[in-house]
Parts: sequence; C-alpha cells; structure tokens
Amino acid sequence: MTEYLSTGSLPDEYQQLAKTVRDFAQNVVAPVSAEHDANHTFPYAVVDGMADMGLFGLPFPEEYGGMGGDYFALCLALEELGKVDQSVAITLEAGVSLGAMPVYRFGNEEQKQEWLPQLTSGKALAAFGLTEPGAGSDAGGTRTKAELVDGEWVINGNKQFITNSGTDITKLVTVTAVTGTKENGRKEISTILVPTSTPGFTAEPAYDKVGWNASDTHPLTFQDVRVPEANLLGERGRGYANFLRILDEGRIAIAALSVGAAQGCVDESVRYAKEREAFGRPIGANQAIEFKIARMEARAHTARAAYYDAAALMLSGKPFKKQASIAKLVASEAAMDNARDATQIFGGYGFMNEYPVARHYRDSKILEIGEGTTEVQLMLIARELGV
Ligand SMILES: Cc1cc2nc3c(=O)[nH]c(=O)nc-3n(C[C@H](O)[C@H](O)[C@H](O)COP(=O)(O)OP(=O)(O)OC[C@H]3O[C@@H](n4cnc5c(N)ncnc54)[C@H](O)[C@@H]3O)c2cc1C
Repeated sequence: MTEYLSTGSLPDEYQQLAKTVRDFAQNVVAPVSAEHDANHTFPYAVVDGMADMGLFGLPFPEEYGGMGGDYFALCLALEELGKVDQSVAITLEAGVSLGAMPVYRFGNEEQKQEWLPQLTSGKALAAFGLTEPGAGSDAGGTRTKAELVDGEWVINGNKQFITNSGTDITKLVTVTAVTGTKENGRKEISTILVPTSTPGFTAEPAYDKVGWNASDTHPLTFQDVRVPEANLLGERGRGYANFLRILDEGRIAIAALSVGAAQGCVDESVRYAKEREAFGRPIGANQAIEFKIARMEARAHTARAAYYDAAALMLSGKPFKKQASIAKLVASEAAMDNARDATQIFGGYGFMNEYPVARHYRDSKILEIGEGTTEVQLMLIARELGV
C-alpha cells in the first residue's frame, strides 16, 4: 500500500476497480435511476448486481467472505456510484461502512462468523442505529435503554433516520443503548446487535425525503426487544466511543460519495455547455459558463485530494480524524455548490426532476447533514487544533 495516494497516479488495481464500477454505474444504475427516484423504490436489482460484483465485501478479508481490499477501494467505488446515483451509493456506503464495519471492528469471532459472510455478500444488510429523536449531533444524548434481565438485553426506545433499516434484505441493526451509569455519573452507552426478526422490533413507515429517494430510511421502535446477553458488540460501556470511531472512517466514505456527486455535476455540465445553444452559439462559449464549470472542477478536484489524503493516513495507521472531517466538510460543500451551479447551467431543464442534475440538487443537501453536520465537522477540526 502506497502511503501517498495521488489523484494523478493511482496503482493499477485501483484504476481497474474504478473502471469496473464506472461501467456498472453507467450501464446498470443510470438507466433506472430516474424511475426509482420518482417512485421512491429501493433498487433491489441494482443492489443485487453490486453484491454479485463483491462491492459489499470490498474492505473485508476473504475469511469473512470479503474481497480482501481496503477502505480506499470502497471509497473509489462510492465515488463512481455517486457520480450517477447518490441513493445507490449511500446504500453501499451505509451497508459496508456503517452496517458491516462495526461487526468487523468490534465483534468477537463468533459474531463475525455469524454475520460477516451474510453482510459482505451483499445478500443481507445491516443498519447503524445511533440517531434518536432527541440525540443527533449530540448523539451521547441517547435515551434508548437496554437492561440485562435473566441473561437477556431488554431494549426499549426509538431510533430515527436509519438508513437501510427496513428493506426486505435487512437482517440486523446495531444499536447504541444506555446500559447503566458510569462511576463519574455519566451514561454508560453500549452497542447491541439486534436481528430485525426479533419480536418488538419495528421499522416504521419510510420517511418522505427531499432527496435520496431510492435509499431506505426509517424510524425504528424497540418495545421490550429481547436479545441474548452475548449480542453485546464490543466492550460494555464503549458503545458510543466505538460508534464515533466508525463515523470517523465513514466521513472519508461520505467525502468520496460527495466527490462523485460533485464530479457528476461537472461531467453533465461540460456535455450540456457544448450542446445547448443560445444567441447562436453553445452556452459554453460564454466565459461566465466556462468559469463556472472550471470552478466546479476545482472544487471536485480539491475535495478528491482531501479524501485521498485522509484515506492514505487511515490505511497507514496514522491519526486521520482531522483530515477525515476536512474531507467530509469540503466534499459535501463541493457537491452542494456544484449541484447548484449545474442546475443553473441547465436552466429550466435543470429544475425538471428527470434530469440527473436536478436529482443531484435534491440529493446533495443531506451530504452536509448526515454522518456529522457541517457544524459538527467544524467543531471536530477546531478541537483537533486545540481551540
Ligand atoms: C437521510 C438520512 C439518513 C440518515 N442515516 C442515518 C443512519 O443510518 N444512522 C444514524 O444513526 N443516523 C442517520 N441519520 C441521522 C444524521 O446523522 C443526523 O440527522 C445528523 O447527525 C444531525 O442530527 P439531527 O438531525 O438530530 O440534527 P441536530 O443535531 O438537532 O442539529 C440541528 C442543527 O443544529 C446544529 N448544531 C447542533 N449542535 C451544534 C453546536 N454545538 N454548534 C453549532 N451547531 C450545532 C447542527 O449542525 C444542525 O445544523 C440520517 C439522517 C438522514 C436525514
């Protein structure tokens, strides 16, 4: 593994992977994107195709059914998918980095053997249950409770905005819950594995969202949900800290997805600027349009360099928290800014839902909110600087 990943000279195996996913995105994903977006339907066939390509197993070892790749490989796949369809990209991101990764990072051998082969195959999905009605940015405000009764965790509470939590192939939700009080008086938060077939677990009706319409998002209810004591994931009382570690990595993945969205907007705009004519010449012949597109490309490029840098640090075992937050911050803003500019370049057509730039316009806003809002990234960067 090279310590430094350059946007201009990726090793062959990464380039090959990116090309394979790019072809899949163009040939399999793009033709059905508008339809799933309009009908708010989960793209099962596309997810099945990604599963067959091994994308859900990309960063996991072969002994757990994975592809033996690394987190950067996942990021490259997310970037390629994000250019075309953010709903599909977030389904993969949440399935791998939020769903399977906590089991891989914090599970014991038995838990890994039970869950990872299903999850890395992509034939089953796991969801990440952290956010609650009263605990988003301040996720430590968790109220969901898990009480140990006769060798079982009895879970009661609610989670909200949980991705991939209600599909036909969702088999597992990892949830944070208050399991007691620490010596310092603070909440003891632990993580527990909850198979979705457990009585008392309900994925409530899906949200009606502004974007990411083909991504599956539900509020979850836990009413006297009983699971074995052995379903504790990682150390008791480390649940919150472990989930924060997962989010640090996840920010690099969300940055990669965002770069894809930002680049998708550039690609669409370049094509349209050459093709659309006004005042007797292509609109791209106007410097105002040319400069807008150049600035969009600069945003996508610098955001890409930021996520490559964070990924390179992570893969070489160095601290990467600040760089991951910077990457997430600049990439999500690049996506939103580029989506706004691309929509402007498309004029009235850019406001029509069937056009990819319109979808990016609606989809990109959540990139500045999910897995830590822009303000949370700024707080984390400032904290790393000791401010
Ligand atoms: C489509 C979608 C999918 C999601 N998927 C998942 C998932 O799979 N799993 C999961 O656990 N969660 C998920 N989330 C939740 C997401 O991570 C939260 O919405 C996000 O962290 C923000 O939390 P909140 O919505 O409660 O906003 P709040 O925390 O209430 O924030 C409201 C506003 O206040 C700002 N703010 C808060 N505190 C401060 C502060 N100290 N200083 C300055 N500004 C501040 C925020 O930045 C924001 O602008 C998803 C959300 C959406 C919309």
